Amino acid sequence: MGNVPTKLDQESNGGRSVNSDTSANVTGEEVRARGKRTTSLVGSILSNNRVRSESNAGKGSRKKSTREKEEQKEDNARKLVIRFDETVDGGYLAPHGCYSLEKVDYDVDIVRKLIIDRKLAPFYIPLQDFDESWTKEEVTKIVDGLPLHAPFNEHVEEYEDVPVGNLKDPFFDHLVDKSLSKKEQRKMHALIFKARLHRKRIQWQESENNAYLEQKYDDRRDQSTTTHKFLPNDELKYELYKNGAECPICFLYIPGPLNYSKCCQQPICTECFVQIKRADPHFPHDEVDPTKPQADDSEKDPNLLISEPSSCPYCATPNFSVTYTPPEERKVGINGQHPNSFIPVTITEREIKNYTVTSDDIRPDWESKLNKERARLARRSANATAIHVSNRLIGPHRTATTGSDDSQSESTSRAGGRSTGITDNALDELERQMVNEAIRLSLQDEKRKRKESKKN
Ligand SMILES: [Zn+2]
Ligand SMILES: [Zn+2]
Repeated sequence: MGNVPTKLDQESNGGRSVNSDTSANVTGEEVRARGKRTTSLVGSILSNNRVRSESNAGKGSRKKSTREKEEQKEDNARKLVIRFDETVDGGYLAPHGCYSLEKVDYDVDIVRKLIIDRKLAPFYIPLQDFDESWTKEEVTKIVDGLPLHAPFNEHVEEYEDVPVGNLKDPFFDHLVDKSLSKKEQRKMHALIFKARLHRKRIQWQESENNAYLEQKYDDRRDQSTTTHKFLPNDELKYELYKNGAECPICFLYIPGPLNYSKCCQQPICTECFVQIKRADPHFPHDEVDPTKPQADDSEKDPNLLISEPSSCPYCATPNFSVTYTPPEERKVGINGQHPNSFIPVTITEREIKNYTVTSDDIRPDWESKLNKERARLARRSANATAIHVSNRLIGPHRTATTGSDDSQSESTSRAGGRSTGITDNALDELERQMVNEAIRLSLQDEKRKRKESKKN
């Protein structure tokens, strides 16, 4: 008897009705043919996905290596150091540190530029309180005692017991425990990198703080020489703080003018403004019925993932934005007078400049983050569907096997001969699902590519 049942085999195989045999045989043949087709469809969807992601990685936005990503993170972290010689109108280009380092994740270059262009209030060194009755001497004395940066939290629980090695050595892979799985090793590498960066940021800021203190000390010791051009004179210190206001979010007293929410005209300091951002991409909440078990996120259509613009922290108006009117009478620092020779200017003809900055302006990557998350979910669900379909195809053959596992051909022939449990309808449905999925993924990919090419 041949391995593959043929019509002849069936005909010579007496004892069974020709009709049922024939139909069973046709079904069996079809099952295998379809099986092959569907399997290759599964394969092509899977490999298509692979090719797609590889070609995406190869085009323009070449996927960055871990090392490159880490260098970029370090570069950003360096720009978050407050430097006393980088000032705009008496404020700075980096936050004072009211929020922990880990929470600072806005686009550093964009915010620096907005501050230099005087479209957003600079970061200031805040005061806990301000008393209207303080004299100019008292104010300058208090301001002189302010640190450039808030004290750091040196003991972050997450980094405790994480080896950091020599921070001057750029390579630290020898610190990773090689007995761990590849995945765990990657995790440990990432954690060591974060812990090292945390330490480095503290060191960078401390050395800047020391330079600032030395400069201030030199100035005080030698009253006859002019002060360092980047250090504010007493006039500027007083001007800054006597015109301040309390930020209603951090409750700290900040030199003015502050930013104002566009919707309800409430003051907000820049350090609080840069904390406001979109929530991570998520599925809409409104359709959730608490009485029914919630569908797993992996079963939902990735295209339904949304990312909502942040709302005003005061009045909840969506699309949060702030306006800022730079102080024309106090244009000091970058592109202005030297802070040490500040003299208040009286502006007679005042042209009021007013700028608006939205929350999305300082995190423009929100859309690519959303698309990335959608693509990730789509890939995951395509893989899950493919695995599910191939399981359903293989399953019935397996259950038809009565003999040992190695009698593959025999079981196939039996499966072919005896009907397999997969009906024509079910197969059509599966095939339809696979084709739909393939079309959907390809359309989605096209859309994304078109969007990306439009951007570039
Ligand atoms: Zn604030
Ligand atoms: Zn508002």
